[in-house]
Amino acid sequence: MTVVTRFAPSPTGELHLGSAYSAWTGWHRAREEAGGRFLLRIEDIDIRRCKREFETAILGDLRWLGFDWDGEVRRQSEHFATYGKALDQLGARSLIYPCFCSRAAIERELAASANAPHGPDGPLYPGTCRHLSAQERRERIAAGQEHCLRFDAGRAARETGPYHFVDEKLGRVEGEPMLMGDFVIARKDTPTSYHLAVTVDDHLQGITLVTRGVDVLPSTHVHGLLQKVLGYETPRYAHHKLLTDDSGRRFAKRDRDMTIRAMREAGLEPKAVIIRALAAAAAAS
Ligand code: GLU
Repeated sequence: MTVVTRFAPSPTGELHLGSAYSAWTGWHRAREEAGGRFLLRIEDIDIRRCKREFETAILGDLRWLGFDWDGEVRRQSEHFATYGKALDQLGARSLIYPCFCSRAAIERELAASANAPHGPDGPLYPGTCRHLSAQERRERIAAGQEHCLRFDAGRAARETGPYHFVDEKLGRVEGEPMLMGDFVIARKDTPTSYHLAVTVDDHLQGITLVTRGVDVLPSTHVHGLLQKVLGYETPRYAHHKLLTDDSGRRFAKRDRDMTIRAMREAGLEPKAVIIRALAAAAAAS
């Protein structure tokens, strides 16, 4: 099977050394194999935080670094209807439900429960709105109450049974369906979420190998579950190390001197930037 990889930045800031390394891993894997394809996807579903200027700057930096991509760039904000179809599929099987809880209401509920289960991003949603009746849901929606949609992870897990994914370093990883609990699958302000859009797009774009930072590893458990319920193939994964500075701190978009633009302005050659990224990756624990 010919390898198809992708780089999927969110245009919320400039490309920095860490994300350039991430792009390199996908690009390199595609280019080292005859016929390999490297695709570019702009993950701009968060219309408030994503900016066209950042997208243009990211594409410019990638070109400057010498990373060429195959086909058109896929921009997620142009595919909300596609994610909506996947939501309908899940809705028809009662795998999603509207959640009317405000952040404050969730916090109150969590404070009142002694042993709230925790996920990688903190305490998990306690499932309050999962117990609402169909009529109550209808009434609250009809009354115009703000809501997001949540994925009923327990129900999905009962339907699918065990699942797994393969990571090139970790080998076979058993899926943990409850790792993120009933996560948000469509936000109040956006008719999708990262988890849904990424799963649908990796499927539609025929991605065979997902190369991305190890910080996203918990999400892969959720994506594996979504792939199973939606009847998609699960790609292979290669979660890579995150680049850190000398004190072990992760590079972030706010570190101006770690942006590719700053390195370009400082007169570095593209090759030198890539060598620097690879050296930082080799040094990262
Ligand atoms: N848009 C995500 C990010 O910038 C990509 C994560 C992924 O590759 O799935 O972190």
